[in-house]
Amino acid sequence: MDKIDFRSDTVTKPTPGMLDAMMNAKVGDDVFGEDETVNALEEKLAGLFNMEAALFCPSGTMSNQIAIKCFTQPMDEVICDQTAHVYRYEGGGIAYNSLASVRLLNGERGILTPELIEPEINADNVHYPNSSLVVLENTVNKGGGKCYQLSQIEPIHHLCAIKGIKLHLDGARIFNALVATGDKAANYGKYFDGISVCLSKGLGAPVGSVLLSSKETINKARRIRKVLGGGMRQAGFLAAAGIYALDHHVTRLATDHQHAKALATALTQTNYVSAVTPVETNIVLFDVRNGLKSDQVVKALGAKGILCNSTSDKTIRFVTHLDLSSSLIDRAITTISQLNL
Ligand SMILES: *Cc1c(COP(=O)(O)O)cnc(C)c1O
Repeated sequence: MDKIDFRSDTVTKPTPGMLDAMMNAKVGDDVFGEDETVNALEEKLAGLFNMEAALFCPSGTMSNQIAIKCFTQPMDEVICDQTAHVYRYEGGGIAYNSLASVRLLNGERGILTPELIEPEINADNVHYPNSSLVVLENTVNKGGGKCYQLSQIEPIHHLCAIKGIKLHLDGARIFNALVATGDKAANYGKYFDGISVCLSKGLGAPVGSVLLSSKETINKARRIRKVLGGGMRQAGFLAAAGIYALDHHVTRLATDHQHAKALATALTQTNYVSAVTPVETNIVLFDVRNGLKSDQVVKALGAKGILCNSTSDKTIRFVTHLDLSSSLIDRAITTISQLNL
């Protein structure tokens, strides 16, 4: 029987409709600005979020790193939560690409507030690095898919504006947050200097991320993308998958969220789980009971055809996605419920 893969929402394969859209894409050389499908994707996303311009990038890591490079100077400091993807999972890119230091905060499940940020903004003094950028993540990956509401972002924006600090959103899963909160993408643009959006997570495209910002910043970002080797040629084949995903795979994220909640309920009732983090979107984090190690549980589930990863000695993560139908989720729930450890 097929494995049920909860390791990540990046494991999805293009659907037949998406492949069709890719095969029929009109393409050109995007380094010359001549790929009409890439241009259409960039315009579509910029319009959706009320930002001036956009840049199609090969990965979310690249769009975040380009944004950080655009919004900082060497010797500056970036403020983010200690769980932030830009800090933990981008290979030390902030130091390597931008020559900047990082100030880590301890948000509740990765969620920052003006009260947490303000005391960490450095005064203008030669001893201190210049605090030039705050990065938020929505949803928070390591926070178990926890969402910001726009009403929580507004006061952070306000603080950054007063202090002359740029605000970037790592929106790898921003559409999960929009579907869960009911907030509108169009209201995001005015709060952020930059937003990166992933197409290859819950949206189900094979490749790609888009950085949204002002025209001026995107012009600079285009130069940085080139120097990083991210200038792609007939990238419209990939952009077509992104456009298809935006048209067909956004509202269905609510199904992934329901699946995650159903899995959480089933996990709570087993004898090997001690706690499940409340589910808001498509990520389920749970702790194994005392006496067990997460890797033992991952192995036992794997033997029953359920693939997942541990995120620590005690914690395991499940991610729901496009390739997991309701019948596969039902099968997974049966297996999870029958397992005794
Ligand atoms: C996946 C992810 C990214 C980008 O990852 P890539 O694999 O480089 O596309 C950025 N931020 C968060 C929170 C993510 O989960």
